[in-house]
Amino acid sequence: MDMAIQKNQIIAGAFREPIDARLAKLYLEGENIHSELVDEHTVAIQPLYSPAIGGVKLLVDSSDYEHAKRVLDGYYEKQMRYREHIESQCPACQSQEINRNTLFRSVIVLLCLLTANPLWLLLYKDRRCKVCKHVW
Ligand SMILES: [Zn+2]
Repeated sequence: MDMAIQKNQIIAGAFREPIDARLAKLYLEGENIHSELVDEHTVAIQPLYSPAIGGVKLLVDSSDYEHAKRVLDGYYEKQMRYREHIESQCPACQSQEINRNTLFRSVIVLLCLLTANPLWLLLYKDRRCKVCKHVW
């Protein structure tokens, strides 16, 4: 059974996916900030409820809120930089010399919209490595 929000707790973050909430909770624990998750199990069982109930909430004690927000801001920034780094290099040879075909991307998005069929995304490979010619 999911927990309820207590009087002294504040929502420090909300996540659509339970795994993202769990990772943020672990990150806070690494900084010795106690936190709890609300609606984790509800969203895990029925993911379509996530937007309706505000996702999985990460709660901290009100006295830890400011510290937790600073820690989480740093965590989100690190995640964003990591994703940018991963997306800007070839998965086969790690070269950062890649070409991106934005026209192909636009065509795929248009096909999805016109046909109401997301299966076109299976064709979505718009990046090509200049070094090893890998396409993804
Ligand atoms: Zn490559």
